[in-house]
Amino acid sequence: MPQITFATGNPHKVVEVQKILGADYTIVSLADMGITEDIPETGSTMAENAIIKAQYVYDRTGKATVAEDSGLEVIALNMEPGLYTARYAGPEKDHDKNIDLLLKNLEGKSDRTARFRAVVAYIDDSGQASTYEGIVNGRIAHERLGDGGFGYDPVFIPYGYDKTFAVLPQEVKADISHRARAFF
Ligand code: IMP
Repeated sequence: MPQITFATGNPHKVVEVQKILGADYTIVSLADMGITEDIPETGSTMAENAIIKAQYVYDRTGKATVAEDSGLEVIALNMEPGLYTARYAGPEKDHDKNIDLLLKNLEGKSDRTARFRAVVAYIDDSGQASTYEGIVNGRIAHERLGDGGFGYDPVFIPYGYDKTFAVLPQEVKADISHRARAFF
């Protein structure tokens, strides 16, 4: 079965991507490859960051690697937090504080439409790189709902549904998420 290293330190993303790719591929984590350091994300776009992460790992392993950079874009906040989604409320990357700040910044705004964007970078065994983008549209709930998923899932309601990603079954997210759409 083909193996792909997934250049992320986020265990939730590993589970989601394994679910997205199904039984045809085995996802190898960074820990499995002995890479424990934080990979620097110095790019100025999600695509650049995804390629930086994939290249960093490919250079050390010489094996097929995927990496992913993702973020939340909120229309009424001029597409913020965007590239700074993980560090919205500060460098500690605290999901709870990030959600608090997002809900505060949306107070009094009638337009709560938002989207998650993901860019996946793939480097094959020969070193050839390609990128793929996926988007899921939706809106930001007025309060947290559910405890599944990770990150902003408790406040993101995908278009066509009335529950957050943290409430909806994992299978739904694996089908319609920005990450799923970037892979297929
Ligand atoms: P990255 O790990 O550097 O790509 O940062 C992505 C940021 O977007 C983190 O704050 C994540 O929590 C958030 N994020 C990305 N994808 C999702 C998702 O599927 N659900 C909730 N939050 C997400």
